[in-house]
Amino acid sequence: MAKIIRSQRASTPSVRSPPKKKAAKAAKPLSKRAANKPPAKAAKKTTKPKPWTAAEVYEVFDRFRKANPEPRGELEHLNPYTLLVAVVLSAQATDAGVNKATRALFAVADTPEKMLALGEDSVRDYIKTIGLYRNKAKNVIALSEKLIAEFGSEVPRTRTEIESLPGAGRKTANVVLNMAFGEHTMAVDTHVFRVGNRTGLAPGKTPLEVELGLEKVISTEFMLHAHHWLILHGRYTCLARGPRCEVCLINDLCRWPEKTV
Ligand code: SF4
Repeated sequence: MAKIIRSQRASTPSVRSPPKKKAAKAAKPLSKRAANKPPAKAAKKTTKPKPWTAAEVYEVFDRFRKANPEPRGELEHLNPYTLLVAVVLSAQATDAGVNKATRALFAVADTPEKMLALGEDSVRDYIKTIGLYRNKAKNVIALSEKLIAEFGSEVPRTRTEIESLPGAGRKTANVVLNMAFGEHTMAVDTHVFRVGNRTGLAPGKTPLEVELGLEKVISTEFMLHAHHWLILHGRYTCLARGPRCEVCLINDLCRWPEKTV
C-alpha cells in the first residue's frame, strides 16, 4: 500500500520578523489594445488518476474471464508455421483481411517446403489484397528458407530465434509463443496499446513499455489469455473512436478521464 507522506509544518520561529511592508502599486490604466485582449485561459487542471490496486486489476481480468473463459485469436491458421506466416502478414493489416487471403494460400501451402515450392510470385498473387504485400511475400519465402535451413522446418520456441526470422519482430514472437506454445507473453498491438494507456493499467509511450507494465500487474493465472482479452476489448468495446463505455465491463474501474460513463 502506498505510504502517505505528510508534509511537515515548519516549526514556529523563535523570533518573528516584522511583516514586510508592501509597496502600494498604483493601478495603471489599461491601454486600449490590452483592454480588448481576451483574458488568458486558466491552465487546464490535470489530476493524476488513482493508481490501480492489485485487487482491482484482479477484478478486471476476473470479469473478462467470466465473460469469455476461452478467448480465441482471430487469425486463422492450421499449425505453428501458418500462425507465424499469418502474424507476419498481419502487420498494418486487419485480421479479417489477412484471413481472406490466407484461406486459399494455406490450403496449398501449410509447410515451409510447400511455400518454397509455390514461389514468391505465386505467394504475392495470393496475398495481393494485403497492404505491403510485395515485401511480405519476400519475407514469407525468406523465413520459410531459414526455417528449413536452420530449424529443421519447425517454428523455433525462443523469442530470439523467432525474432531472427525475416519479417518477425517482438510482437510476432509474443503471439507465436503464446498461441502456439502456451507461453505467458503479452503481444501489444494497437488495441492493447490503447487499452493499456486509457485504462491506466499500464501507461507507456512505446509498445514495449505497455507490454512490460501489463506483465508486471497481471496475475499469472490470467496471463495465458490476457493478451486476447485485451485485444478483443480494444477491438469491440474500447474503440479508438467512440469507445462504448456504457456497455464496458470495467467502466467503474477504468481510469480514463474521458470515459463517457
Ligand atoms: S470505460 Fe470506456 S475508455 Fe474505459 S475501458 Fe471501458 S470502453 Fe475503454
